[in-house]
Amino acid sequence: MEQPLIVITGAGTGIGAATARAFADRGHPLLLLGRRLDRLTGLGLPHALARAVDVTDRSAVAAAVAEAEAAFGPVDALVNNAGTMLLGEVAAQPAQQWDQMVDVNVRGLLNGIAAVLPGMVDRGTGTVINIGSVAGLKSYPKHTVYSGTKAAVHAISESLREEVAAHGVRVVTIAPGAVRTDLLSHTTDEAAKADYQAFKDAVELPTADEIAEAVRWVYEQPQRITVRELVLAATGQAA
Ligand code: NDP
Repeated sequence: MEQPLIVITGAGTGIGAATARAFADRGHPLLLLGRRLDRLTGLGLPHALARAVDVTDRSAVAAAVAEAEAAFGPVDALVNNAGTMLLGEVAAQPAQQWDQMVDVNVRGLLNGIAAVLPGMVDRGTGTVINIGSVAGLKSYPKHTVYSGTKAAVHAISESLREEVAAHGVRVVTIAPGAVRTDLLSHTTDEAAKADYQAFKDAVELPTADEIAEAVRWVYEQPQRITVRELVLAATGQAA
């Protein structure tokens, strides 16, 4: 393959699926990860290895990356996109929901990094793109734990960028505002869901494809340029 391998987590829906299509359009071979295999294979993308992998399973993420590298060569970029948002007030929210957000949004992100970073450092090139959130930069009602996990994504990304900059590896954080995807459907607090949905209906939100274009744009900068952080949200999103 002329184009190098790109790994995308949470690739079956929303921003991940749009990003997979955007890179497939450029001829990249892809490793697509997510728990629902049918959503990954349903994209119908060429040169794509789809594996049903839970990002909280570190060895399964590493094994899938090794399998893809054997087929397509070294991974040049990881889009750490898998995430879950379970809105609610901390006192009312089942603690299991905190665990799930921390496990997927933080530990899952680190598992992706662990699978690709040593090889990138050895080769002296590569790009890690972590999907944070505007909710990682400021607070919103009923977002406490979700915001905490996304703030962790931003902090991990910036610190990691400093660690690997001298090795030629780029680390980028992309922080979308609200985007029209399935993300809200994970939330079980019906009042939180209704409030958020009302906001989403009132504002012209960016599409997953528009976020994916931004992901591809940061990747396609020359390797000597790192877009450290890109925050993009609907103009009508005041908060
Ligand atoms: P989606 O719900 O469409 O995408 C989330 C993806 O993550 C799904 O494809 C899901 O696939 C995957 N996923 C969830 N848990 C796991 C897991 N344990 N292991 C592997 N994959 C998992 O929503 P979005 O596209 O909106 O979300 C993508 C990213 O963008 C998330 O990190 C989200 O926090 C972030 N974001 C989204 C915003 C929005 O408004 N939509 C705003 C800011 C940031 P499966 O269930 O098959 O595993």
